[in-house]
Amino acid sequence: MFFPTPRKVNLQKYKEGLNNPGIFYGLNSKIEFCKLCTNSNQKPNSEREYKHVKQTNKPTIKVEKGICNACKVNDYKKENIDWEKREKQLKKLCDKFRKNNGDYDCLIPGSGGKDSFYVSHVLKHKYGMNPLTLTFSPHLYTDWGFKNFKSWIQTGFDNYLFTPNPKIHRLLTRISLENLFHPFQPFIFGQNFLAPKLAAKQFNIKLVFMAESPLEYGNDDDINDPKKDPKYFCIDNPNNTAIGGIPVKELIKNFNINANDLVSYLPISTKEFAKSGTEVHYLGFYLPWHPQEIFYYAMENGNFSPSPERTPGTYSKYSSIDDKMDDLHYFTTFIKFGIGRATHDSSHEVRNGEISREEAVNLVKKFDGEYSNRFE
Ligand SMILES: [Zn+2]
Repeated sequence: MFFPTPRKVNLQKYKEGLNNPGIFYGLNSKIEFCKLCTNSNQKPNSEREYKHVKQTNKPTIKVEKGICNACKVNDYKKENIDWEKREKQLKKLCDKFRKNNGDYDCLIPGSGGKDSFYVSHVLKHKYGMNPLTLTFSPHLYTDWGFKNFKSWIQTGFDNYLFTPNPKIHRLLTRISLENLFHPFQPFIFGQNFLAPKLAAKQFNIKLVFMAESPLEYGNDDDINDPKKDPKYFCIDNPNNTAIGGIPVKELIKNFNINANDLVSYLPISTKEFAKSGTEVHYLGFYLPWHPQEIFYYAMENGNFSPSPERTPGTYSKYSSIDDKMDDLHYFTTFIKFGIGRATHDSSHEVRNGEISREEAVNLVKKFDGEYSNRFE
């Protein structure tokens, strides 16, 4: 067996109070928290996930002079951005790509959460675009997540629902969990790679709209670039992709699967994407991005419903609620980085002024790392 289980784990290495505890994933040995929000310098940046193998050291967000990158970006935006000017830029972009011949003019990926609803609704109804929406199906829709997905489409969108082969998806998810402790990775691949690839290769749609930039959460990206850097979804040679930390060639050899089984997880080649002339833009560059307001917008305009129960690991009911796998995903980030779901949720709510840092710290202490058994 490739991953024999159960495996023996030496728990001594993880005991509390060790003098020189081991440092994993290349994390900073000195933990530093942001003075303004709940982020710490243990939070990994979004990276070229297709290169991620077991030995990869994760670059993390910077905390300098007690302030994290996400808070710096937030301050910069408050002081320097002229939103009227940004909206004009958006209108110009839409005018450039808008089609009035019956074709789709933009592709909007999403699973039916508040963000995909907002992006598609605003672009269609306020800016007169003709979007096709695209869904890479979550691992396991929650009942309320699937209801929201249907409500989204029923407000008037064509949707291309892509469901990966469940046998392969289960296998890759298990490999990602056992090899990288990252069970969400196969879905992240689909979510990030499929839209640019289908837009460029199959749909002949030249414009893809994503929601907000990872800059909002502390990533090191160019603050003045409205486009998603192709390095996140293109690779020189797609056959060099690693899924679950295992190179594609090895997966094919060791797990009795064929190349076609993996095609929906592979990024597009850099050359092919450049040749297509397709562009991937963040709507959050052009319009202010405020998750709680987006939630209210989705409720008012699209029958979006929050989860009927508090999400384990956090206090919130409205973000990332459509996939049962989210619970396990955030539990693994808590174990690996000390960053659970309440940290993630509270850090942007502090930046947006919804809660104070003191409240946020209490919420993190109360809920972060809570194990969820509701879907077992
Ligand atoms: Zn901060």
